[in-house]
Amino acid sequence: KNILVILGFLFSLAVIALITVALTQNKPLPENVKYGIVLDAGSSHTNMYIYNWPAEKENDTGVVQQVEMCKVQGPGISGYAQNVEDVGFYLNQCMDKAQQVIPKEQQHQTPVYLGATAGMRLLRMESSLLADKVLTAVKQSLSSYPFDFQGARIITGQEEGAYGWITINYLLGKFNQTVSWLRLLPRREGPQETSGALDLGGASTQITFVPLNDQIESQGNSLHFRLYGKSYNVYTHSFLCYGKDQALRLKLVSSIQDAENGLLRDPCFHPGYEKDVNISEFFNTPCITKDKKSFPFRRLQIQGTGNYSACLQSIQKIFNTTYCPYSRCSFNGVFLPFLHGDFGAFSAFYFVMDFLNLTDSSLESVITKMQTFCSQPWEEVKAQFPNIKVKYLSEYCFSGTYILALLQLGYGFTEDNWKNIEFMGKISGSDAGWTLGYMLNLTNMIPAEQPLYPPLPHS
Ligand code: AMP
Repeated sequence: KNILVILGFLFSLAVIALITVALTQNKPLPENVKYGIVLDAGSSHTNMYIYNWPAEKENDTGVVQQVEMCKVQGPGISGYAQNVEDVGFYLNQCMDKAQQVIPKEQQHQTPVYLGATAGMRLLRMESSLLADKVLTAVKQSLSSYPFDFQGARIITGQEEGAYGWITINYLLGKFNQTVSWLRLLPRREGPQETSGALDLGGASTQITFVPLNDQIESQGNSLHFRLYGKSYNVYTHSFLCYGKDQALRLKLVSSIQDAENGLLRDPCFHPGYEKDVNISEFFNTPCITKDKKSFPFRRLQIQGTGNYSACLQSIQKIFNTTYCPYSRCSFNGVFLPFLHGDFGAFSAFYFVMDFLNLTDSSLESVITKMQTFCSQPWEEVKAQFPNIKVKYLSEYCFSGTYILALLQLGYGFTEDNWKNIEFMGKISGSDAGWTLGYMLNLTNMIPAEQPLYPPLPHS
């Protein structure tokens, strides 16, 4: 019995010694990390993002980070309308990657969300049956993995704008809440201003910001959020068909009237560039409402003339500014409040301006560069950038000019407030886009009220 008492005593001593060592060394305990997956099913391609964050801090701002991005090879999911059986194989590429990145024991509690954007909105307009078939195949594939599949749906343009705005402001630390007990101290600074969000995809483009006077004249453009104890009245609009791929089609169809015998001399392509297109390719989208039968030829031969100003003029025609039922509009009769504050411009805004080396330039130098770039002969451009995909390369003159047209003629940016636009790819390692904001919202990681902290830190 005595031996048992002595052993018990020695055991207690050992436990105390171990606790003391652990405390004095002050080593942090291993963090409990959580993961989340969001697939951005865009019009031209699908990207998978994996995020992680420390479980015990999930209501804090700025703790979620992107740990992996995987680009699915192939078109956007709307491109699978005629062969839905291949969708599983397509998504496999990145879902396999997710299984390698996320520890096995965490996988079953890792939520997976897929959000489809304007490519699927357009497919649904053409045929809701086909859009449903694609989504069903996507759901079937995603639920076959060991993750916690939460659903696949087409998000609205409003959501796309709102979540893009939430993402960049979260990553920029604009929601940084002061902890509750600190609020008792007098405020040194005024509340942080949020940054507006400009997003350009292939099939739609979004503008989202907090206007100065809160006056949003159209219900459909107004959102109200309460985040970390603060209220935000946000303006957002998504222009379907004004993503850069659909906008190019709109422009080409509007230019067809200038074509003679099926030959279009187009200022938005480099001199020496030639392309032959079947006219029916323009009409397989609900964005083009003109009747294809009204065109006297079946094929269109495009020849580049490389002229920035003429290109800008031809793009201008796709913005209708002749009517406005509000006190002010961007285009096509859509309300736009006065621009206010800084703007983060991402997705294709960034891809294009980054390629053109124009992310830090004044409006004047952007225009000068576009003039020179568009007039550069196609052979020279190809030789200068042998590693860039020809499809992208041949369209940078159009895309850069379209961005200028949209920002200046569409939204009214001027030399003066151009410097308030920051073209951004990533913020602290995470891509700017709607996916992070979407996940933060669906996992309830953005509290409406400020999380209550004890007046003194726990020990
Ligand atoms: P979405 O697929 O709807 O998200 O649209 C993305 C848009 O960005 C499409 O118009 C793509 O063609 C375009 N894009 C993606 N990567 C690049 C790049 N490196 N250079 C130019 N455009 C790009």
